[in-house]
Amino acid sequence: MIKSLLIVSISAVLALSAISADDPAVPQAAYSIIDHNMIIELDLDKNTISAVDKLTLKRLLKKQPGFDLLLRRGLKVEKITCGEVPLEFQTTETVEASLFEAKIDSEDTAYYDRAQMIHIALTDDIVKEKELTIEITYRGVVRDSLGDADFSHEYVSNQITGIIDRRGIYLGWEAIFYPTLPDQIFTFSLKVTTPVVFQCLTEGALEESQVVEDKRTELWVCRHPMDAIHLVGGQYEVGKTLHENIEILTYFYPEQADLSQRYLDACKRYVDLYTELIAPYPFEKFAVVDNFFATGYGMPSFTLLGSQVLRLPFIVDISLGHEVAHNWWGNSVYVDYETGNWCEGLTVYCADYLYKERESLEAAKAYRLDLLRDYTAYTNERNDFALTEFRERHNPAQRAVGYGKCAMFFHMLRNYVTDDDFWRSLQRFYDDNVWNYASWEDVRKAFEKESAMKLGWFFDQWVKQTGAPYLTLNDPQKSRTPGGWELQLTIGQLQEGEPYVLDVPIVVQGTSQEAHLQVGINEKDQTVTLNTIFEPVSFSVDPDFNLFRRLDRSEIPPTLSEVFGTSNLLIVLPTATSEELQGAYRGLAGQLTSYGMENARVLRDDEITTDDLNSPALLFFGRPDENLAVRKEWINSERWKVTGDSFWIEGDDKTAADAALLAVERHPDNSEITVGYFCGNSLTGILEAGRKLKHYGKYSYLVFHAGRNVAKGKWEVSDSKMTYKF
Ligand SMILES: [Zn+2]
Repeated sequence: MIKSLLIVSISAVLALSAISADDPAVPQAAYSIIDHNMIIELDLDKNTISAVDKLTLKRLLKKQPGFDLLLRRGLKVEKITCGEVPLEFQTTETVEASLFEAKIDSEDTAYYDRAQMIHIALTDDIVKEKELTIEITYRGVVRDSLGDADFSHEYVSNQITGIIDRRGIYLGWEAIFYPTLPDQIFTFSLKVTTPVVFQCLTEGALEESQVVEDKRTELWVCRHPMDAIHLVGGQYEVGKTLHENIEILTYFYPEQADLSQRYLDACKRYVDLYTELIAPYPFEKFAVVDNFFATGYGMPSFTLLGSQVLRLPFIVDISLGHEVAHNWWGNSVYVDYETGNWCEGLTVYCADYLYKERESLEAAKAYRLDLLRDYTAYTNERNDFALTEFRERHNPAQRAVGYGKCAMFFHMLRNYVTDDDFWRSLQRFYDDNVWNYASWEDVRKAFEKESAMKLGWFFDQWVKQTGAPYLTLNDPQKSRTPGGWELQLTIGQLQEGEPYVLDVPIVVQGTSQEAHLQVGINEKDQTVTLNTIFEPVSFSVDPDFNLFRRLDRSEIPPTLSEVFGTSNLLIVLPTATSEELQGAYRGLAGQLTSYGMENARVLRDDEITTDDLNSPALLFFGRPDENLAVRKEWINSERWKVTGDSFWIEGDDKTAADAALLAVERHPDNSEITVGYFCGNSLTGILEAGRKLKHYGKYSYLVFHAGRNVAKGKWEVSDSKMTYKF
């Protein structure tokens, strides 16, 4: 269950508490849950769940007079029994997170704020049992507001935990809709009754389905140990096919039902790909489920995708494959979150990245550049962190490290141990850890066994350490040797702290040939010598971006992510335009700076000072002739031009009604300053394009027509400091 935050094995918590004085010990639970047997009825008009959960518990501590469980606050516990014996219980409305978590973050707090605690008293007879079954009857309303949930490439916020509604059903583990505790791995069966027009889905396999009058009852059984239960439902049309004994399904709303075959075919391809690369598919089914609000979740044996994205080509070409890959990484080998989430980066590497690599070497290189660029743009000494600290993403910096650095780690590991050993090690990692929690240590062990190499230093450097090397190239010289040419250069490491141990790729170009070489460095300033049989004309250090490193700005085309990644962004509003457009720009500035950009400032063009123009990132709204603060000499008019109603990008006329254009450049006199320009020729053009800008962080320029993107791209880089020409 890859959205998990809270799932930590008890042994890991105790082990950590024992070695670290900072983490207070978390009391051990008296019982663990090994099975849920649930009967649930959902009333979509009253938004209620009525449930009986028969839990099988295993005793962990002897002679405990009782124990606690968590359940969503607001659900009323009506009765608890053990066999025929009623058990006494109390509920408390507030739950102390520190009873369960060694390290508490804001997500943990939100989770425990949703919970109530049930204290269950046990009779003397029951206390003696090593294993016991209790039955909890409860009911109540589950209805989060759909509000302004945001789920996108860069931002994830205000997630919905549970909703029972005519529009659809979503009960995530975070909704705490069944009695639970953190850190549990259990099997379950779930019998759910809904109106007949609804179909439900959960982890596991559908074993019975029955319609009586206007109600449908389905029995789902999950015999694989799970760490969470999700229950979703809607008025779906179900498409299905059998592939290698795996049932592949689509649960789509009628509006999307025409996409079913495309998704079924794609699922088959992805299942085959990972079966070959890693291990046989671990579940009986895989389903693509349409959701009535924006999500991109991968649960064991299904994925939940928002209706609005199902038609986008990249969903079926990339995102779906990513979610299928999660059935191996995260959903059958679980993540020991307390020691760092390895699974997103590995899934990105085995899916998003691998598809690029299979497309072309150029596409793979561009993808790596994107990862390094995001890291360089979004992280700094205040928000950077080690991979061992990653749990899940909420902002671009967390994504740049938890997904990006982690994917690059696996890329470097693959280059280090060889391709064959890499895939064999992943297979071993899977086999050794399936249906269990796995940590970075388990990754290391699998790779050490298969490669027969000591990798402790490699994992320490990249996984436990925060940051990245920042390389420079100095004092290049070439000279003749008896057999050819010698090239000498000094590679510097500018980052704070210890030097990295690196194998640095260097490509040397002659007039008609090139050599791909590699040099090992382990010092902050190291002079290295390379030999070629031809005369070097130029050379480049890591030109294909095979190392995880902080890029020099000269290697990066200026992009929108630089503008939004700068905490001191200054947005400059135009005054030489209509009241209506001024209002639109003002509203947009408010929207763009409302989340995660507390230090951004918004000023009118007639109130800014010369000092303000030295802000590390500037974003001018309005056409150059509408914004009095725009310096025309800063604009590279070869690249883009807006005059009156006409819009030009790279020599192409993009003029249209409701057009909007965005261009990002570097300050011509100070490359540390990024300057963005955004303008449109109508209220609609500005607002429709403006609200999408944050999703286009990786581009240097964008053109929209009535909010529809019609051009996007990056400017060419021509003067990288990592390339030297003799
Ligand atoms: Zn993922």
